[in-house]
Amino acid sequence: MEGILERKDAGDWIYRGEGAVNLVLAYIGSSPTFVGKVLRIQKSVRNGFKCEDGPSALTMHECLLWEDTKDLVSAPTKEIAEQQYVQHVMIPLLGPEHVDAGEPVKVESQLANVGEDIVIHMGSCESWFKHLRRCLIGRFGDMNTPILDKLKIQKWALKKWGIQAGLKVLDLNVAWFLFELPSVEEASRRNWSFEGLPVTLQPWSPSGCCSGLKEDGLIWIRLMGLPAFLWSTEVFRALGKRCGHFVKTNEATAERRYLKWTRVRVSSEFLESVEDNVRCDRPAWRVDAAKVNTLCDSALLISDHSVIPNSHGILERQICVSVEIKPKCGFLPLSRFIAEGNAIKRKITRFRMHQSLKLHQGEISEISEYNPLYMFSGSKDRVHKAIKALFVTPQNNFRVFLNGSLILGGSGGVAESTSCVIGEAFEDVLKCVIRADDGLRTTNFLELVAEAVFESGLLDRVLKVQKLDLYDIEGAIHVYYDLVSQPCMVCKDLGEDKLSGRYSSLHSLPLNESLNIVRDYLIAATAKDLSMMIAFRPRENGDLGSPYSIVFLKSTGQSFDYKASFIDLDMKPLKRMEHYYKLDQKIVSYYTQMLKMEHQLDKKAARIKVNGTLN
Ligand SMILES: [Zn+2]
Repeated sequence: MEGILERKDAGDWIYRGEGAVNLVLAYIGSSPTFVGKVLRIQKSVRNGFKCEDGPSALTMHECLLWEDTKDLVSAPTKEIAEQQYVQHVMIPLLGPEHVDAGEPVKVESQLANVGEDIVIHMGSCESWFKHLRRCLIGRFGDMNTPILDKLKIQKWALKKWGIQAGLKVLDLNVAWFLFELPSVEEASRRNWSFEGLPVTLQPWSPSGCCSGLKEDGLIWIRLMGLPAFLWSTEVFRALGKRCGHFVKTNEATAERRYLKWTRVRVSSEFLESVEDNVRCDRPAWRVDAAKVNTLCDSALLISDHSVIPNSHGILERQICVSVEIKPKCGFLPLSRFIAEGNAIKRKITRFRMHQSLKLHQGEISEISEYNPLYMFSGSKDRVHKAIKALFVTPQNNFRVFLNGSLILGGSGGVAESTSCVIGEAFEDVLKCVIRADDGLRTTNFLELVAEAVFESGLLDRVLKVQKLDLYDIEGAIHVYYDLVSQPCMVCKDLGEDKLSGRYSSLHSLPLNESLNIVRDYLIAATAKDLSMMIAFRPRENGDLGSPYSIVFLKSTGQSFDYKASFIDLDMKPLKRMEHYYKLDQKIVSYYTQMLKMEHQLDKKAARIKVNGTLN
């Protein structure tokens, strides 16, 4: 693929899951551009809106709200706005190390060298070149060959070439390997085959391994996995100097156009074909509600956080198990603007109350025992309890993947509670990850998850961002109406006077304070709705120098590398404030009514007990 995904590429993308506005596809092909990535494509609501791309992705009032974040306001499309929102709003709050900066990929063919980031002069690399001249470059099959095991190739070469010492094999890129030999003489060999694949060996040369070499001795280099906070001209300059003589930075890189996510151009045939392919994997109600928006010509390419790539960005043939957790709101609101009739909000979590409404509406079949306050408690035991509850009723808050494939939880909606059959199958799948007897693996696995959630301390950060919601929706909604210059519908319904009633203090705030309140509310809303992905990989004995954190599972004596990331950091549209208010009122009023009814039933039951009859 060069820049655009066509119909013929559709077979490489399979259904991973979906939310209200996007469909997520996982990649099963072998193009290095896409391995370890997922593609997020827009949906369009049936009988609803069309593609929302316009001159600016934001409404007039949103531009006012986010005016300090220039790149966000000037984003020409929704996808770029999402990307800028994560980059400039969420990353500074959650930390760059857990929101993957990704790497730039060639996407627009009319731009020269889009895939490369900096250009250097090779003049100063001579000593390293001397070393490389006793190396061979070997190509095993083609770019569609499954990723080969480096050790296997090293063994093969040792046997074939009869070299006793000094042979080193380094994997370069999918089918390519570098063989470091003891001498230049050893390096002159013929063609071989390896497990039926043709092998092409050639002496290393500067032009043989990189297409970007110019006659003037300049070479473009792509920087992989550079953390977002290092994305500056100064750092590029320093890195360029380290490799050779730094010349300049690629324009697209300097402008951070493809920093967080990459935008990929897609043809409508690709989208139509994908839609056909994934239809049977999608939940029926999702298919009825929205279809793939085939009018859009681009999609977002995001790192697949359910797998751990190696340092070259390549997926190894190693077991990787990951969990996706939607922790939801982790605190009880204290705002003084919460109406007396809604005081229950200060005692019962929003999650618990919403469960009751969802059960009543038939969206779930069972109330979850999950308690977000436990999840955010900072106590390991309570975190463990919370994880166990999520396992029992995953709904849409808990999913487990093995090597990127879903093994527990729902793929595009609410999952059924974990039955015995599902539980046994899960226990069985864990065989390759957890070294424990039958019946103990799930328990140990959940302990591992709890340990990593606790160790990472990530939820403390999320909670801090969630708590930016100081006023609760019952306060923020009044400020919202002022911002969009509309009469306050809430004051009107409550019969309050905007300027002298209960909420007059909110309605008389200066503009900048109003902006802060609504902005903070929306940022907190993102944090209440995000997911955390933790990928685990069993650690080999003596495997030192891994860039990932380690977690030790005491009960099995195993160590795991883990990588935690935040996903679903969507920007919430300003107009959603009204929806948030209405939903909040609906949830609370249903719950209070339900409590009243239960109370009456209890009283009745008590009377029956006393009198022995129903009266
Ligand atoms: Zn009001």
